Amino acid sequence: TSSPLDIPGATPMMAQYIEIKAANPDCLLFYRMGDFYELFFEDAEIASRALGIVLTKRGKHGGADIPMCGVPLERADDYLHRLIALGHRVAVCQQTEDAAEAKKRGPKSVVRREVIRLVTPGTLTEDRLLDPTRANLLLAIGRRKVSDTRDAYGLAALDISTGRFSLSEVEGAELAAAIARHEPREIVLSEVIHADPGLAKLWRETKAAVVPLAQGELEPASAERRIREQFGVKTLDGFGHFSRAEIAAAGAALLYLERTQLGTRVPLAAPSREATGATLAIDAATRANLELTRTLSGERKGSLLDAIDRTVSAGGARLLAEHLAGPLTDLTKIGRRHDAVAFLAQDGALRAQLRDALHAAPDIARALSRIGLNRAGPRDLAALRDGLTAAATISERLSREDLPDGLARLARRLDKADRALTEELAAALSDDLPLNRRDGGFVRAGYHAEIDEARLLGQDSRKVIAALQARYAEATGCRTLRIKHNNVLGYYIEVPQAVGEACLKGLMQDFVHRQTMVDAMRFTSVELGELESKIAGASDRVLALESAVFDALSARVSEGAEAIADIAEALSGLDVAASHAELAVELAWTRPIIDESLAFEIKGGRHPVVEAALTKAGEAFIANACDLSGDEAGRIRLVTGPNMGGKSTFLRQNALIAVLAQMGAFVPAASARLGVVDRLFSRVGAADDLARGHSTFMVEMVETAAILNQATRRSLVVLDEIGRGTATFDGLSIAWACLEHLHEKNGCRALFATHFHELTALSQRLPRLDNATLKVAEDRGDVVFLHEVVPGVAERSYGLQVARLAGLPPSVVARAGAILKGLESSERERPARRKIDDLPLFASLAAAPPPPPEPVKPEPDDRLGRLIDALDPDALTPREALDALYRLKKER
Ligand code: ADP
Repeated sequence: TSSPLDIPGATPMMAQYIEIKAANPDCLLFYRMGDFYELFFEDAEIASRALGIVLTKRGKHGGADIPMCGVPLERADDYLHRLIALGHRVAVCQQTEDAAEAKKRGPKSVVRREVIRLVTPGTLTEDRLLDPTRANLLLAIGRRKVSDTRDAYGLAALDISTGRFSLSEVEGAELAAAIARHEPREIVLSEVIHADPGLAKLWRETKAAVVPLAQGELEPASAERRIREQFGVKTLDGFGHFSRAEIAAAGAALLYLERTQLGTRVPLAAPSREATGATLAIDAATRANLELTRTLSGERKGSLLDAIDRTVSAGGARLLAEHLAGPLTDLTKIGRRHDAVAFLAQDGALRAQLRDALHAAPDIARALSRIGLNRAGPRDLAALRDGLTAAATISERLSREDLPDGLARLARRLDKADRALTEELAAALSDDLPLNRRDGGFVRAGYHAEIDEARLLGQDSRKVIAALQARYAEATGCRTLRIKHNNVLGYYIEVPQAVGEACLKGLMQDFVHRQTMVDAMRFTSVELGELESKIAGASDRVLALESAVFDALSARVSEGAEAIADIAEALSGLDVAASHAELAVELAWTRPIIDESLAFEIKGGRHPVVEAALTKAGEAFIANACDLSGDEAGRIRLVTGPNMGGKSTFLRQNALIAVLAQMGAFVPAASARLGVVDRLFSRVGAADDLARGHSTFMVEMVETAAILNQATRRSLVVLDEIGRGTATFDGLSIAWACLEHLHEKNGCRALFATHFHELTALSQRLPRLDNATLKVAEDRGDVVFLHEVVPGVAERSYGLQVARLAGLPPSVVARAGAILKGLESSERERPARRKIDDLPLFASLAAAPPPPPEPVKPEPDDRLGRLIDALDPDALTPREALDALYRLKKER
């Protein structure tokens, strides 16, 4: 179908609409008409479907009905929220002149309308559109060439709802992990990076909205200019050194803000630069698998974040999520965080005081940003008043000598609160505040003499009207005479139709007749008219004066914006430290020791989420130790045991302990000592991933390859049932080769759960590999899981017992038992474990670490000789000896 936009002969209003729509083709256009935003044509169809609102018609265009739907102004935020959540972008279009001005240009001219703002997922500021506990990040990406084969990516992460702005650079291989860590709502980048086939998968799989920008607008010179203009500086040197990729990213971000905020300069903090490697690298699959901030099904409830969150303020909740997403690697910084937690854990009274005060403090970061963007209401000013008051209270509580460095630093930042500003806000704002500044009534009586005076006049006028009504009633002798008000007539005099003739005559002399209703007549008088303009003038004047007060206070706040933003951050930091302390006391968590070693020594470790669920059900969690410490390289623990024994729980709890320790929290363990981890990997074999259109096994292998290629000696690797997604022998061989590679090449600390019991034989050959298993007891044929990790190898897999527990029909369990017996007796004749022992793989590996495995091509003529060499007559059963003889004969 032809686009409606091509059709000539539109009404002036439609022509205007079409022009604006054409300039914003990728947005739904919210077109303000009176008290509604209206959407037309395809936009109307999309929105009515998405929002479940009625699709109607308004007028005709090119002979066809125009589809239309409308959203009432006062509910616009809710609808915006839903459209944004569905991934739409919305252009808000409003009148930018009043009807009188339009008339001056000619009788037929339409009121000028302009798009005042694009609403996109990454540029929201309204509380109603934002999750208070999550940052709302826009991530811009730039790129530079490091060498012919290597690229580096600059990342600009900014949250316009709080003004935070940080820059970092990562290697190409780390891009996906960095995006996963930021969890942006929207990504902007040049069309060139967007079109890079190597990155297509990334853009396809991210949950963020991805917006490519034309390359021509992203030249390095314009990027630098944008940054200089944004921060009002002549050179960028004052911010430290940024790479070209970082500058490109910052430039793209600022361009996008210009584009979406249309003329409003967004107040942003000076960009902070994050050093490469400052955070523990955790890729997307690991984050998902460990359920750090959300569960595999996408909810916050059941995640680690949910289990550890004891924050009492929105800013604190956001910072906690941020710390969890990017645990540190710098020992000093980690130590500082632990010191603060330890101090607050031990001083319960101080902790309680802080948490009370923090709880009372509103979200000043977001209020501040709305003030800077001119989108604030009186309640935002009140939020600053209360937030800064809380900061002052807390600062007093913390003015003591014995604070550890970590807390003292936060306390010092609170000191910067501008007391005079707080007092001014307290004096200026009323107790009851309207949502919008245009509603007025927010300036406290006694604050501003002229406002008080004008208000008095308004009140007086009402008294005067009452007196006038009494006088008119007296003079006309019409006791039912009333003075009323409506929008058409303003103030008017109303008498019932049934008044006496004489009375009416008197009225006609003094008053001007305006309306005759079924049962009443309406009049105005000169006197009333004068009074009216006086009253209207007074209330207009109050509104104008209040508005000026609002602007003056906003300006004062904006002047101190940098200091206030810093105070907001410090408050959030305190909340996070107090949250960790609260948690540590509540659940008896301990301070981990972190150092430069390759230690990993956990005693009495627990899984925070599983334990919480068990505690709720009145059951006990069994704590388990884990030691992967090594001097030159880490140890690998190979865990076997029945399904439901607790393997996955054990594996994950150790990874989570590392994350918690490095984010600055205490840990769920009796004690923990770990050498700082640089990268964390966690994979589960054969997780269903059909939605992404890959075979599950392919995904598993791709991800495993990433680990083997990237894990260093400092890394922690957790692999659960790798190799499960394919035929037994394929899977076994792959799992085996992976273990060898981890042991020989990566040298990382690793936990490896498997149901291939054959692999446990490797412990004899790989010196830093230990076997562990989950203890079970048998009770009259039933299996009892003890969830205790002990050295050794699982004797049986108890699959049938688990199947019975799961409710498989008894006849099926019985039949499976019979089949198993048959299989086991043939296995006894040719034990798989023995076969594996015989393969001389490790020996050759140790001698010369293998290059990437090439297909082995045995020399044809030597095959027989090697087969004979491989035979150890003393170790063969008679049956095996006979088999071997047949085999040799066949080879010949
Ligand atoms: P596996 O990976 O061996 O199949 P899971 O780790 O999934 O087993 O654990 C199965 C269930 O056993 C968990 O849901 C939990 O209820 C329970 N469980 C696991 N570990 C423990 C433990 N240490 N203490 C108590 N219960 C546990």
